[in-house]
Amino acid sequence: MTNRREAGDPALLEELRRSLREARARLLVAVARTEEELATLEAHQPGGPMEDVDRETVTAILSRLEGRERHELDEIHAAQARLETGTFGVCEDCGQPIDLARLRALPVARHCLPCQRRHERQ
Ligand SMILES: [Zn+2]
Repeated sequence: MTNRREAGDPALLEELRRSLREARARLLVAVARTEEELATLEAHQPGGPMEDVDRETVTAILSRLEGRERHELDEIHAAQARLETGTFGVCEDCGQPIDLARLRALPVARHCLPCQRRHERQ
């Protein structure tokens, strides 16, 4: 435990660290479950003219899940890095502190709520 004060008190930092670790664990479990389902699908796949079509569908689903989940994982890793370098909780657009309730609900948030809303409108 460090005495870093930039993003608040040590108990809050620990809470945010734990929250990010849990989000990461949930993500990895979700990926593993998907791969298991795919393995089951392929194991029960009978040979035949439909096989290639089904395999393409399965590959497409997997690549989509990987892309979205990989992005989430990147965001979690980035938030963990910000937490350790003391730049966590500062809006990347306006430089203002991000609301604590927002950070607790969404530790990977890069922007304060007004900036986030502006991004979503664009
Ligand atoms: Zn902002």
